[in-house]
Amino acid sequence: MSAVAVDVDTLHRLLLGRWAEERLFTRELVRDPRFGRDLSLGMPQHRERVLEQLRMIVASGGGLRAFPKRFGGEDDPGGNVAAYEDLVLADPSLQIKAGVQFGLFGAAVLQLGTAEHHDRWLNAITSLDVLGAFAMTETGHGSDVASIATTATYDPAAEEFVIHTPFRAAWKDYLGNAAVHAAAAVVFAQLISAGVNHGVHCFYVPIRDGEGRFLPGITGEDDGLKGGLNGIDNGRLCFDQVRVPRNNLLNRYGDVAADGTYSSLIASPGRRFFTMLGTLVQGRVSLDGAVTSAAKAGLAIAVRYGNERRQFAGASDVEEVTILDYQEHQRRLLPLLAATYAQAFAHEELLTLFEIVFSGVADSEVNREGLETMAAAMKATSTWLAVEVLQTAREACGGQGYLAENRIVGLRADLDVYVTFEGDNTVLLQLVAKRLLADYNREFAHGDMPGVARYVASRATDATLHRTPLYRMAESLRDAGSHRRAAGQLREAAVQRELLRERVEAMVADLAAALRPATRAPRDKAAEIVNQHQHELVELGKAHADYVRWRAFTKALATIEDPDTRRVLTWLRDLYGLTTIEKNLAWYLVNGRISSQRARTLSSYVNRLLVRLRPHAVDLVDAFGYDDAMLRAPIASGAEAVRQEEARAYHRRLRASGDAPIPEKSLAAKSLKPAKAS
Ligand SMILES: Cc1cc2nc3c(=O)[nH]c(=O)nc-3n(C[C@H](O)[C@H](O)[C@H](O)COP(=O)(O)OP(=O)(O)OC[C@H]3O[C@@H](n4cnc5c(N)ncnc54)[C@H](O)[C@@H]3O)c2cc1C
Repeated sequence: MSAVAVDVDTLHRLLLGRWAEERLFTRELVRDPRFGRDLSLGMPQHRERVLEQLRMIVASGGGLRAFPKRFGGEDDPGGNVAAYEDLVLADPSLQIKAGVQFGLFGAAVLQLGTAEHHDRWLNAITSLDVLGAFAMTETGHGSDVASIATTATYDPAAEEFVIHTPFRAAWKDYLGNAAVHAAAAVVFAQLISAGVNHGVHCFYVPIRDGEGRFLPGITGEDDGLKGGLNGIDNGRLCFDQVRVPRNNLLNRYGDVAADGTYSSLIASPGRRFFTMLGTLVQGRVSLDGAVTSAAKAGLAIAVRYGNERRQFAGASDVEEVTILDYQEHQRRLLPLLAATYAQAFAHEELLTLFEIVFSGVADSEVNREGLETMAAAMKATSTWLAVEVLQTAREACGGQGYLAENRIVGLRADLDVYVTFEGDNTVLLQLVAKRLLADYNREFAHGDMPGVARYVASRATDATLHRTPLYRMAESLRDAGSHRRAAGQLREAAVQRELLRERVEAMVADLAAALRPATRAPRDKAAEIVNQHQHELVELGKAHADYVRWRAFTKALATIEDPDTRRVLTWLRDLYGLTTIEKNLAWYLVNGRISSQRARTLSSYVNRLLVRLRPHAVDLVDAFGYDDAMLRAPIASGAEAVRQEEARAYHRRLRASGDAPIPEKSLAAKSLKPAKAS
């Protein structure tokens, strides 16, 4: 028993955050059995069921918050994303199908189009009269969107664009809705006018007639059965000289006049391209929220089951041990629970940033860039976290976890690919690192030579100080002889902050120095230098995300008034901070940031935190607010506790009756005659 108690309701409200009403609205929908995943359905029926569920969401009035009021929406970008997150509890296919229709297809018309386009198409999109595909990826180009090969060549005589797929690898691929349901697509293509390629732009292209047949010049294929998300009809599209009117170009950022003259408010083609793609950041923010919900669900199932399931008799002859009391079970689940809390708080910060930019409250270039960087860092690392949580939760539930009815395997199969779409994680983390390096280099731009000199000198001291035996000796002396003091220091928020933040700063500075020759080198040499440091770039992106999460968790702690709840959550934050440091211990040791003495205390302190947190594990997952109707996992419903109690009652009765058979091993050894060898 623990002397402290978590106030589950308060914590639940804290986790619901600023958009509590929107989140509760969706959770109520998800409780409806019609939103449950019917595991007996084959792919075609699953696709139709998901489409039907999407129609039910629209009918409920809950799906369109991001759109302007005149199109049935609420001009509420943050509330919209918050509302969609928990759809993953119904069926991730539904969350993604809704994301394709409203967050990609509809959002492209809204963000890249102008009022004329909104008037022409948004009503049909929000009512689902027109289902659409978001046709960006090609078989040959996924992550590198700038290099897609589909062309949109302007014909001034007809005032039309000609959309064309020049070769097989340029087929649009993996497009949600494209295999069956889409009547139109927003197609990304190289805009060519008067012989000049102005880069990637987006065009509204009708693709099917009222009978579901492809329009002339368009062919397509069904991507077929996937590793998950089979409620979405992904497909391929090919365009053979397909003509669309000039004003089907979504021209908010670049336009072509009737005579073929190209114009844009953004002179630089590179900046224009990134500005256009940046308007679609909502997809990454949504995924970050959805995977947080899925991770919470996986943990809720595994922790509840682990708290009831018993296996192996330990210290007692008559009682088996509850599996969550095993240290290793705690080691597997509780650090992930801590990381998921950190992720939930960081996601709320990301969503707030998204809201202030997209509602126009603080829409500036700097904020958009900050939002994109944070979205990339969060999406990449939260999707990996969710996949790890679901795999661990599956294993933690043993064979029961492998039953489809217990949800985890389905979620795991569906979430697998979240690490790839909306920006492959490895590619996104490089973008994050490059932005951090750009910020860092900007500080030293404008020829601030004394500043640079001061910095170089301080780095030299820093490197000397941290990497020399002298520093390590000084730190060891500080910690020497006192495990308690070393562990005590690790518990301090300031020490955790320093360790996590300094890692990012040191990695940025080291990389900036290593990549500096690339700025003056010829292109091939520069690419080679960058490639030689690619792994460090990716690691930097991860380290940054770790720190952002820790900081968000720490900020959230300050808002908790109930002292017991704050105390337990502080342990949980410490667990997140310290297991993150533990994971990267090699870096801290190699770079002289932590003494071996302190490193030794780390694991034992983490183990002590597990013991403290164990009694609160169920409260911590209950605070997610997912009841049985939302989780729909029989093993998380208390059924295991009932089974265990029945078994224990049986054994109690048997012992009391005196009829219990005597275990052979408890018979006196002498009464057992060893079998003679014949
Ligand atoms: C279920 C699903 C639904 C989708 N829906 C849509 C949709 O509706 N519309 C749409 O347009 N697209 C959609 N996509 C496509 C998706 O966006 C792409 O799959 C994604 O962008 C990755 O592209 P790719 O598959 O070509 O992989 P690639 O970009 O080729 O990546 C393959 C591997 O190479 C690595 N790699 C690539 N570049 C680098 C580099 N510079 N450095 C190091 N490693 C690198 C990646 O990390 C990855 O491991 C969907 C995909 C899936 C799976």
